[in-house]
Formats: sequence, C-alpha cells, structure tokens
Amino acid sequence: MAKKKPTYPAAARPEPALARKRPEGVRVGRASAGLGLFATRPYKKGERVIEYVGRTLTNAEEYSSRSKYLFEVNKRKTIDGSMRSNIARYINHSCKPNCEPEIERGRIFIDAIRNIKEGEEFVYDYGEEYFNEHIKPYGCRCAKHT
Ligand SMILES: [Zn+2]
Repeated sequence: MAKKKPTYPAAARPEPALARKRPEGVRVGRASAGLGLFATRPYKKGERVIEYVGRTLTNAEEYSSRSKYLFEVNKRKTIDGSMRSNIARYINHSCKPNCEPEIERGRIFIDAIRNIKEGEEFVYDYGEEYFNEHIKPYGCRCAKHT
C-alpha cells in the first residue's frame, strides 16, 4: 500500500534540494571573518561549487524577517538560507570574489568565476545593498580590506 505524502502549507514545504546528500569538495573552517567555506579540491573557472538552499518566504515573512541569510531569487521569491543544512551560508563576502551566485529556474547556485586552489576560501560579493547595511558599518574583513 502506497504511503500518502505529507502535505505542508506552501511556506513550510521543504525545497527539493534539501533532500540531497551533503556536498563534497567543501569544508567549513576558520576564516578572517569567523567561519568560512573552503575548497577541499581544486575548482575550475565556471565550475559549480554548491547550491544555496533555503525556505521560500511568504511576502509577510520576508518583510518581518531578521535573518541575515535572506537571498532574493527574483522580485517574487526570497529564500531564507539560515538553516544548518545550507552549507553555502558559510561563504563570506569579499570585495574581490572568486565565486558568483547564479540564478537558474528559481534556484541559487554558487559558481567559481576563476580557478580556485585546494584550501582556498570561497567568497562572493554580497552586493551593494547588503554591504552598505551589514558590512560597511563594522568594517569589511575580506582579503582586500585586511
Ligand atoms: Zn572588502
């Protein structure tokens, strides 16, 4: 007898990506800005590093959320990547990035924009709005600024 799938309200439905196995080729470690995500093997320019996964927020949740891990996919979709299973949330900001977020069919991927050596920290530019609001007031701790 087939089991009935559980039904969730739209906002609580887990993203399909969360069911996938834990990512390879990356590890969480100490960085200049707290914890960071590092390469455990070399990456080629253009290679996909990891997916930024999270829960899709309703408009009301988006408005009231205090999460630092909100990621705007498009005008109508923002995800909250604060859950522990989202390893990509460890990727720090840099003004001189080696990665870039790539949005494909409503999902966010972090891709290498140059060759990355084993042991190197993955970083991407969080964008002007986030930078001005959350980084600038405390001083940027990226490689370019330390
Ligand atoms: Zn910086």
